[in-house]
Amino acid sequence: MNWKSRSNNWIAFIIIITFLGIYGCDKQEIEIVSPPSHKYAPGLYPDSTITDGPFISVIGSNYTVRWIDKNRSVIEKSISGNEMGDFEADFGFPFEFIKTFHDRSESNDYIQEFSNVEKLVALSDIHGQYEIFVSLLKNNSVIDEDNNWIFGSGHLVICGDVFDRGNRVTEILWLIFKLENQANQMGGKLHYLLGNHEIMVLNKDLRYIDYKYETTARKMGTTYDQLYSKNTIIGEWLRTKPVIIKINDILFNHAGISPEFIDRRLTIQLANRMFQENIIDKSSAVYDADPITELLAHSNGPIWYRGYFQDDNFNENKLDEILEYFNAEHIIVGHTTMDDIVYYFNNKVIAIDSGIKYGDQGNVLLYNNGVFSIGTID
Ligand code: ZN
Repeated sequence: MNWKSRSNNWIAFIIIITFLGIYGCDKQEIEIVSPPSHKYAPGLYPDSTITDGPFISVIGSNYTVRWIDKNRSVIEKSISGNEMGDFEADFGFPFEFIKTFHDRSESNDYIQEFSNVEKLVALSDIHGQYEIFVSLLKNNSVIDEDNNWIFGSGHLVICGDVFDRGNRVTEILWLIFKLENQANQMGGKLHYLLGNHEIMVLNKDLRYIDYKYETTARKMGTTYDQLYSKNTIIGEWLRTKPVIIKINDILFNHAGISPEFIDRRLTIQLANRMFQENIIDKSSAVYDADPITELLAHSNGPIWYRGYFQDDNFNENKLDEILEYFNAEHIIVGHTTMDDIVYYFNNKVIAIDSGIKYGDQGNVLLYNNGVFSIGTID
C-alpha cells in the first residue's frame, strides 16, 4: 500500500468515526457545552481530599445519617422519633427542617404561580461551584456571613443544573435545603427548578459527575444515583421540584419554552406533574411511548431546548405567541451558557447561565419592583 492510499484510508476512517460520533447517540447527548474539566483522572481521585455528606435515608420515621468525615471514615448515626442527636452541631442547621419536610402532609404543588413579588434574585447552572454560589448570594444580600437567609420576603430562583461537573454538589444542595426553610419562616421563598442534569442523575445517567462522587458512592457502598433515591431526604425533596414556575409576569425554567410546547397546549401545571410522575424514575422507553412526555423530555422540552439562541427559524413573533399564551412578559432561562447575563428579543428573554460552571465567574439577575439589573460576585 503506498502512502497516498494509506492516508486515504485514514481519511475514510476519520469520516466514519466522526459520523458515528454525531449520529450514533440519542439527541440528549448532543449537548453543546464543553465536557466536564476533571481535575483528576478516573480512579485517581485522592481519597484524602474527600469529605462529603450528609446522605440521609429514611424508612418511616427512622432516619439514617451517613457522611465521610475529615478522617475519610464513613460515619453512620441513626435518628429515630424525636431524638435529634447533635445533627445541628455537625451540619449547621436543625434536624427539625428535615423532619418537617419528610412529615409534610400537603401534596405537591404543580401550579407554581406567584404574584405580588417585589424583589427577587435568580441564577442558574451552578454545577457544583459552591464557593461562587455562596459569594454571589452574600454579595447580593441574600445570605449573611454565616450563610443564613437575610432576603426577607424576597424570592430566590435557582433555574436548575446544580448537579454535575463540579465537586461540591452536596454542599450546595444542603444549603438550598436550609435556605428554603429559612425563607419560608421569613415570608420569602426559594424556588429550585429542575434542570436536565438533575433529571439525568435521578434517572441514573451519571456521565457528567465529578470523579469525586464515584469515590463517595463507593465508600457508601452504593451508586451515585442511589444517594438520591426516593428513600433519601434530598432525593424525596428533589422529586417535589417543578420545571416551570411563574412569578408576577415572568416565566422561569431551565432551558426555554418551545413553540411545540404551546402548539400542544401544554400548561405549567401539566409539565410539572409529568416530570414528577412520568419522567423521573422512568426509562426513556416509557416516557418516549407517550407523545407528551416524549416532547417534554427531549430537545423541544423545557430542560433541553436551545431554540431562542441556536435556531435561525426562531424569531420574536414566535416568542410573542409563547408569552401571550402564558400571559407573561419575560422568560428567564439558564442551560445555554453565556459569559454574562444577556438580554434577548427586547428583554423578553433573559439568559442567566453566566458561566458559573467554569469556576471563576458568575452573575445573578436582580429584580426590584419591575426593574431588572445584574448583580456581580464582588
Ligand atoms: Zn442544562
